Amino acid sequence: MRPPDERAGDGDVEVRFLHPFQARKAYRCPGCDQEIPPGMGHVVAVPRLAPEDRRHWHRPCWDHRGTRRPTRRR
Ligand SMILES: [Zn+2]
Repeated sequence: MRPPDERAGDGDVEVRFLHPFQARKAYRCPGCDQEIPPGMGHVVAVPRLAPEDRRHWHRPCWDHRGTRRPTRRR
């Protein structure tokens, strides 16, 4: 169940928010190149033209993606 405003469009990418209980696998965040552990709520960006190429982001990384290019931080 997703309220309409959680699908805020970003070009041709559909943005979804995963709740902690929905996150059952670990993913690699393209924003910071760190792992998103299972059980952490995060953002999923799904290109409408290539839904299999979806990306999982930390919420803060997603929020900042537009202000600066992804950088690797260790
Ligand atoms: Zn991140």
